[in-house]
Amino acid sequence: MSILISGASIAGLTAAQRFSARGAEVTVVERAPALRRNGAPIDVRGTALDVAADMGIRDTLAAHETGAAQRSAFTHIVDDNGERVGALPTELPQDSPDDLEIFRNDLIDVLHASIGPNVTFVYGDSIQEVTDTGDAVEVRFASGRAGRYELLVGADGIHSNTRRLVFGPEDRYRRHLGVYYGILSLPAELGSDGEAYLYSVPGRSVLIGDYPERTYGGFLFLSPEIAYDYHDIEQQRQLVFDTYSAVQGWKVAELLDALKQSEDFYLDSASQVHMDRWSRGRVVLLGDAAFAPSFFSGRGTPLAMIGADVLAREWATCDGDLGQAFGRYEQAMRPQVHRAQEGVPQARDRVIPATREAIEARNRQWPPVR
Ligand SMILES: Cc1cc2nc3c(=O)[nH]c(=O)nc-3n(C[C@H](O)[C@H](O)[C@H](O)COP(=O)(O)OP(=O)(O)OC[C@H]3O[C@@H](n4cnc5c(N)ncnc54)[C@H](O)[C@@H]3O)c2cc1C
Repeated sequence: MSILISGASIAGLTAAQRFSARGAEVTVVERAPALRRNGAPIDVRGTALDVAADMGIRDTLAAHETGAAQRSAFTHIVDDNGERVGALPTELPQDSPDDLEIFRNDLIDVLHASIGPNVTFVYGDSIQEVTDTGDAVEVRFASGRAGRYELLVGADGIHSNTRRLVFGPEDRYRRHLGVYYGILSLPAELGSDGEAYLYSVPGRSVLIGDYPERTYGGFLFLSPEIAYDYHDIEQQRQLVFDTYSAVQGWKVAELLDALKQSEDFYLDSASQVHMDRWSRGRVVLLGDAAFAPSFFSGRGTPLAMIGADVLAREWATCDGDLGQAFGRYEQAMRPQVHRAQEGVPQARDRVIPATREAIEARNRQWPPVR
């Protein structure tokens, strides 16, 4: 029998490599028609670097470093006219001296390339039904295919399909933090000097991050949960147009123009996932599906990589006792997850202050650096 992983992103790809390196026969099913390579720069830090070293990809990742070390450690806050009126410290405290920042597409590519030919990838399909028979997990896919596995790993993100099918509805576990974030690549001319800039009006901010090889933009806005189709990009684009239609300062018009043309726009809720248990029978959740710390934490990616490594190691040494393996996985991960999930609301309020007064107070607290 073999292992089925749902989701081919950071958690799923790392798990595929880690399980197959320990002799498992692995199949990865990804709902999208190909790897999803969009997104902003993300951090690989602390123990995740040791995982990368074990996978043999640490040097390759280091070669893709965005050059964050050469930037100033601030996101400059600008006013309507682009004048610097504040500076937010960008960096989280370092987990290790070698912490890396890397574009998400590079990380996805490097993880994918580290996986041997014995792992089977199935794109454009999704699990529709899961039955745990005690000695196996029987799965039926949307395509009509069926399979029987020793273990199902749900690594399918904050809106996890595996979690919904096995643990119940999303609203039991996912906590929307009152913010949506949209990320897109920008034409290079919208960047300027290799720095990051943030512009805020009450409840709505925009961000431009400029890097030698790429410039990206972000729309970050306060909003209660909105019902929309996670798979409908046009609907998400419209949501941003509507939210920013009355915002005119700085480069907002250019950002909205870029959004019209964007081919890699990604929007999601900044959410955390909190669950009492990450496993049930032969099904276990990993990464954002189990313990998303949110966009603001900077730790979703390292936690997903570390979790995949711990899970595969415990599986390989549990002598068939999955309950014991999953228990040890939770024991190892819970304290790290807890640390990553706390402190997030303060970060949110600094990046997207709700009122004019809160914007002014923030700018006074974090005065500009020249
Ligand atoms: C396209 C994209 C862009 C992102 N951009 C950023 C960013 O700019 N900044 C940031 O902080 N975080 C971003 N994230 C989230 C970030 O990748 C995660 O927080 C973190 O790396 C943990 O990864 P994960 O593998 O657990 O979840 P995710 O990276 O969310 O991956 C989940 C994977 O599961 C797949 N999936 C979903 N439903 C199904 C299903 N039914 N069947 C099979 N597969 C399914 C998804 O297509 C995706 O590939 C992005 C995620 C995605 C998918």
